[in-house]
Amino acid sequence: MAINIQTQCPKKILIVGGGTAGWMTAMLLADAWAQSGCEIVLLESSDIGIIGVGEGSTPKMRRFFDKLGIPESQWMPACNGTYKCGIRFPNWATRKGYKSYYHPFFSISDNQTVRAFADNVALRRENFDVHAHPDTFFVSNYLAKQKLAPIAKPEAAYQAEYAYHFDAGLIGKFLKEQAVARGIKHLVDTVSEVQQHENGDISGVQTQQLGFIAADFFVDCTGFASVITSKTLGVPFLSYKDVLFNDSAVALPSPLDGDSLASQTISSALKFGWAWKIPLINRFGNGYVYSSDHADKEIAERELRQHIGLTDESVEARHLKMRVGRAASSWNKNSLAVGLSQGFIEPLEATALMIVQDTVENFITQFSGGDFTSKYRDEFNTKINLIFDSIKDYIFMHYKLNTRNDTSYWIENRENENLSDSVVQILDVWDHGGDLLEELKRQGPRLAYSPTSWFCILAGMGRFPRKPKKLKPKIPVNDPDEIRRFCESIARQFPDHRDSVSAMRDG
Ligand SMILES: Cc1cc2nc3c(=O)[nH]c(=O)nc-3n(C[C@H](O)[C@H](O)[C@H](O)COP(=O)(O)OP(=O)(O)OC[C@H]3O[C@@H](n4cnc5c(N)ncnc54)[C@H](O)[C@@H]3O)c2cc1C
Repeated sequence: MAINIQTQCPKKILIVGGGTAGWMTAMLLADAWAQSGCEIVLLESSDIGIIGVGEGSTPKMRRFFDKLGIPESQWMPACNGTYKCGIRFPNWATRKGYKSYYHPFFSISDNQTVRAFADNVALRRENFDVHAHPDTFFVSNYLAKQKLAPIAKPEAAYQAEYAYHFDAGLIGKFLKEQAVARGIKHLVDTVSEVQQHENGDISGVQTQQLGFIAADFFVDCTGFASVITSKTLGVPFLSYKDVLFNDSAVALPSPLDGDSLASQTISSALKFGWAWKIPLINRFGNGYVYSSDHADKEIAERELRQHIGLTDESVEARHLKMRVGRAASSWNKNSLAVGLSQGFIEPLEATALMIVQDTVENFITQFSGGDFTSKYRDEFNTKINLIFDSIKDYIFMHYKLNTRNDTSYWIENRENENLSDSVVQILDVWDHGGDLLEELKRQGPRLAYSPTSWFCILAGMGRFPRKPKKLKPKIPVNDPDEIRRFCESIARQFPDHRDSVSAMRDG
């Protein structure tokens, strides 16, 4: 592999694949290394399309655009983008008072109420009748409920954490234009064969029209096909099927339902999985993620259409298969797998593009260190694998905590005993009155989600003892009405979501 020794970067990188993962990778690599003389080429096939779904994100996406110096006012209107304050989860639990909960993005404004939430949760876990539903305690829920944007009015002192929704096709197009303008070479052809040196390193790719293309380093962004990582290098794929049953999805757009514009994703549990509803400027994106062992395509599509009230049969549904799990390692020989070629956790918390970013950013840091021993590569792979596995644990918790009995799907999910050690310990501490915060701190480096997220899911899905007893008069308790009034007073300092994104488009 030819390396530019002065700046420790490969001399020529070939990215194969032009989906969102390919173009995000191209932008991040160019930002880090283009000035140092690294040549970056992206090759995509015009015969093999992109997956074309993936419209939700995490707050990490903000850092992506900030790092690249691309303002929201530029990219959001181009991608029909909207703000995302968090995710609401209706119908995962059946218990009275806990039929729906909201997973907030934690904000500085919440520092004043999170203690009250933790105190009330502690009392409720001791089986006192205390209000401990997370929806009451986090400002972002109030913003989402009132369809507000997460950026406070100019005169206000508050800040809220947030992410975005966007059109999956348009974001790829936008990033492509940006990348090409920043000097990335774009080639269109299909790879027919990947060739290797004697030591197993990749030497180049044979294409149908453009001949052989050589490079020093390769990034596999070929989606579920995983042309370099799985097909050529034979890197084992570790399935998550034993804990995440869903392997299929059906997606459908639907019209917006009024002038106001929601600022949250809604992820509703259905009979054999769950459905997303994502507001864009011009439409809703909807999809049903389900297990093909429990429902076939027709059943799933019918249930989704009923759920969203879309009787118009002329709107065609897209059916997709999902390969859920991860490659045993992402950096193999002189190639890096990024995006769906590397692995995929079903999209319940919209984490895929966050992992793309994590992978490429960590790779740049490791590679720039200039140590090319396998130990160095192993350290990187361990880190990325941990990100995958810890997100998988958090996603799994949604299924483990469900209390639905309407189908065998939900019962099997709840009764699934394939728990990781991390999940076993978290549930054990929570159920037996232990100090969960301490346990989460102990597991800290192994967890992708913050303690707030863990407390919200456990409390929000009502994992509390039954038949709570009356609180003893001497025990102080935080009054939920007071907290509500406080959060509402903060929410009043945020503008209407529709107005905010319209102003960006108009101005
Ligand atoms: C149902 C569903 C919902 C999702 N929701 C979310 C979400 O809310 N949030 C989120 O972050 N992510 C989500 N994702 C994941 C997200 O869609 C992907 O992570 C993202 O689009 C990146 O995909 P990709 O670029 O890896 O692959 P793709 O989009 O599949 O792109 C593959 C590229 O490789 C090229 N290619 C393939 N084979 C060859 C070849 N032989 N020669 C040349 N080129 C080739 C293709 O032309 C294409 O350009 C979702 C995924 C699914 C399935």
